[in-house]
Amino acid sequence: MENVEKYYGAFHALKAVNLTVRTGERIVLCGPSGSGKSTLIRCINQLEQVRSGRIVVDGIELTAGPKNVEAVRRNVGMVFQQFNLFPHMTVLENCTLAPMKVSGIAKAKAEETARKYLARVRIPEQAHKYPAQLSGGQQQRVAIARALCMNPRIMLFDEPTSSLDPEMVKEVLDTMIELANEGMTMLCVTHEMGFARQVADRVIFMDQGEIVEMGEPGTFFDNP
Ligand code: ADP
Ligand code: ADP
Repeated sequence: MENVEKYYGAFHALKAVNLTVRTGERIVLCGPSGSGKSTLIRCINQLEQVRSGRIVVDGIELTAGPKNVEAVRRNVGMVFQQFNLFPHMTVLENCTLAPMKVSGIAKAKAEETARKYLARVRIPEQAHKYPAQLSGGQQQRVAIARALCMNPRIMLFDEPTSSLDPEMVKEVLDTMIELANEGMTMLCVTHEMGFARQVADRVIFMDQGEIVEMGEPGTFFDNP
């Protein structure tokens, strides 16, 4: 991201944001509510449009046109605070929809991939249930599996544990830690500082639309 400026009407939500993330890097974004964390990661796959500046994802310039936006979105998986699963579709159908519709993968192959990722997030037995039949933690792991089914190069997480009951937070964080250990490039908005300390290569602190601090987790948490 180079000199990215984002406005909501007259409200200046991102101010001259510059950020370079290397392949395989794990970034945690923190900062007070309303500081622009969610906006920043939503700009990375153009869920929000920037006013000016450049965003280049995996060599593709996002800000250069709609074709590029589609290409980038195929490579960027996103997990939201509210799981955003389709309620009228089973877990398996949620996971195969985009690979079939967006990437044109055949159903059998898409289901095979979906089952692989559902096993990886430790819910292989839930494939034929509907989201409402699952706990929040299970639903969020479905959302992670669904994103992984597109074989993304980058994963964005927007407060993935904030709407979960405390006892379910760990199972979702464990899944994220596994992904991090496998070398996935990740940007995570989270208040889970234990997670940040354990997996983040860099922690970014935002305030009022600006990146105000950036550093290794140790430099943040071990000093008063
Ligand atoms: P954070 O993720 O750090 O809580 P957000 O990126 O969600 O912050 O929001 C940053 C600021 O932008 C907040 O003041 C918020 O109220 C405002 N904002 C976010 N989305 C919109 C929107 N769609 N329309 C208007 N203002 C918005
Ligand atoms: P909601 O409308 O439930 O608040 P969001 O504002 O979080 O949902 O997201 C807006 C919509 O954009 C969602 O329905 C989401 O599925 C969709 N979307 C489009 N492209 C992508 C993408 N590449 N990654 C994630 N979501 C996407």
